[in-house]
Amino acid sequence: MRSDIDLLETLSRNVMRGSLCGLGATAPNPVLTTLRYFREEYVAHVASRTCPALACRDFIAFEIDEETCTGCTACAALCPVDGIAGTRKHLHVIDAAVCIKCGVCSDTCTFDAVETVNAVDTGQ
Ligand code: SF4
Ligand code: SF4
Repeated sequence: MRSDIDLLETLSRNVMRGSLCGLGATAPNPVLTTLRYFREEYVAHVASRTCPALACRDFIAFEIDEETCTGCTACAALCPVDGIAGTRKHLHVIDAAVCIKCGVCSDTCTFDAVETVNAVDTGQ
């Protein structure tokens, strides 16, 4: 929760103040700087378990857009866990239960039919 973020900030400042060398004194800088400029991103991750940048694997999911998918089968052929079902020229569907979120399907689809979304929005 937000108190965890406050604790992180306090800890960082204490490390800065209590360090006996320059390396220790500057070690918390990345934390403090990102807290200063991207605090809402921290809050989103901790409080609502979402990643605004859709970059954290634990918080995202992949979906195939039914309007855009042409059923080319390319994603299904390359999925390392056989997690995509579908037949040629028909909509393909990702099985969230087996998907390891590697992103191969998204990188492979030349029709931009694979969408990256926040997992909480899909009920996962
Ligand atoms: S690669 Fe894209 S268009 Fe082809 S089946 Fe997969 S999602 Fe559909
Ligand atoms: S993200 Fe990876 S594991 Fe998940 S459906 Fe796409 S290719 Fe398969």
